[in-house]
Amino acid sequence: MHELSLVSSIVDSVTESLARYPGARVIEVRLRVGALAAVIEDSLQFCYGIATEGTPLAGSALVVKTLPVVVHCSRCNVDGAIESVQSFRCPHCGELTMDVRQGREMEIEAIEIEEAEVGG
Ligand SMILES: [Zn+2]
Repeated sequence: MHELSLVSSIVDSVTESLARYPGARVIEVRLRVGALAAVIEDSLQFCYGIATEGTPLAGSALVVKTLPVVVHCSRCNVDGAIESVQSFRCPHCGELTMDVRQGREMEIEAIEIEEAEVGG
């Protein structure tokens, strides 16, 4: 399952960032996923529940933000979001273009944590 390996790498990198905040608990992880990343959100959520078990991320929420596919049209010299991933055409003039500027992302946008209480 493609999603499970993606989630595992997310958990790894979040755990790594958490090293600076001992005892901190993760509340929420926000992801930016391009429409072309071929990720199914339900599957991602399911895998997240499994992969975070026994980690500082256990019980945290995964928020997935899907980014539209943006192509660059050399005729209009503008970037535009395409209406469907089935059709890579400029939304302005309809010219076919494969110059993808956004849509393949798969990255952590933000991590919300609750820091351990000092002196508690
Ligand atoms: Zn165009």
